[in-house]
Amino acid sequence: MMYLIIGAGPAGLTFANRLLDKGINDFRIIEMESSAGGLCRSEDVDGTPLDIGGGHFIDVRRPKVNEFLFRFLGKDEMAEYDRVTKIRTNAGRIDYPYEANIWQLPIDDEVEHLKSIASAGCNTGAKEPENFRDWIVWKLGRKIAEDYMFPYNEKIFSVDLDTLGTYWMNKLPDVSFEDTLRSCLMKKPYGTLPGHAKFYYPRKYGSGELWLRMAERIKDYIDYNTKAEDINIESKSVNGGSYKADIIINTAPWTIFDKISGVSDEFNRAVRELRHSSIVVKYLPDTEDGKVNWEYVPDPSVDYHRILYRNTFAKGSKGSWAEINLKRYEAKEGDVAFISGYAYPLNTVGKPENISLILKEAREHDVYGLGRWGEWEHYNSDLVVELAMELAEKIA
Ligand SMILES: Cc1cc2nc3c(=O)[nH]c(=O)nc-3n(C[C@H](O)[C@H](O)[C@H](O)COP(=O)(O)OP(=O)(O)OC[C@H]3O[C@@H](n4cnc5c(N)ncnc54)[C@H](O)[C@@H]3O)c2cc1C
Repeated sequence: MMYLIIGAGPAGLTFANRLLDKGINDFRIIEMESSAGGLCRSEDVDGTPLDIGGGHFIDVRRPKVNEFLFRFLGKDEMAEYDRVTKIRTNAGRIDYPYEANIWQLPIDDEVEHLKSIASAGCNTGAKEPENFRDWIVWKLGRKIAEDYMFPYNEKIFSVDLDTLGTYWMNKLPDVSFEDTLRSCLMKKPYGTLPGHAKFYYPRKYGSGELWLRMAERIKDYIDYNTKAEDINIESKSVNGGSYKADIIINTAPWTIFDKISGVSDEFNRAVRELRHSSIVVKYLPDTEDGKVNWEYVPDPSVDYHRILYRNTFAKGSKGSWAEINLKRYEAKEGDVAFISGYAYPLNTVGKPENISLILKEAREHDVYGLGRWGEWEHYNSDLVVELAMELAEKIA
């Protein structure tokens, strides 16, 4: 065949649909699960949808992407929401993002934060550190680091934070003493709105419905329950030659293959160094009666790091969804819980070099890494769709 696509998540589904849009039908998708959608799948629990890979919302900020997605799930089938999210701190709930809402804390905590921000390295002109923990203190001050950033990141990723790089944190704003002081005095947030300030969520369904509809259009091209166990990059073949193509689009995690052949030793070394974390999404039957869509929970004594109140975006629904790192999850009898083995690609020290080596060498053989796992980045689905559309435009 001309194209073999590994994985029927948002990346693979978008790429395949764009091929069909161009009149190309010489392709196949192999998907190891029995249904499409990857991390964005949903299941019915308690009569209403639950997003099994964690709460999934479509950002409104990419009009071209939205136009494409609305072909499958019409805009009239989506509801648009203004995001309302909170952080549960030791001193009570405040709005997200933390640094812009210190003014909502009790006065003693505000003072402690102001003292800490005034002494943060990025405000005093201290040299930028390289290791993760020191860098966070340098950027945000010790108080935000210790009360929020350290415990939250430890909970979500469950790794030694110093194995993470700092390159992916560069989008964090500088927390200026003057802005924070002004915000505390005026009792108003400052700074720009976070991503997902507005989002779409299907009116009647879970987020998975969108991807099921996308898969429906190309159903004759998908082999479900078919895992790519091994891949030969040079001969562009998978599973000992059962699948062979001129071009392979890989959206599966590079580390999932039992064997990668037809590559340099350096390639396999780089793959072995990639890390990821896994999450559990657990259903909690209690319904919160409020407006908060979701809440971040840095408190180490609570197992989940985020809780989503689904009645605020899945109309008429009950209960909440808790996201828990698999390493922190203690299963109890009667739990309704779903595990995503591959949830977060970890931004470890050395990852940018490793993934660019992998992508470059693979590309030389017309094998393309695409999406959250193919490119090993914390991409959201709207960005993945955009990248898949661009790749189809470029190579098809
Ligand atoms: C907790 C959480 C919350 C998130 N929230 C949002 C959000 O609100 N909004 C948003 O836009 N994005 C969100 N995301 C990101 C979103 O999940 C990803 O952007 C999206 O799923 C990436 O699509 P993908 O196709 O690249 O990868 P995936 O969705 O992971 O799909 C990969 C597919 O490949 C298949 N596969 C894997 N290995 C093999 C193999 N060896 N052989 C065959 N098939 C294989 C998998 O079964 C899967 O179907 C969130 C992610 C997480 C973890």
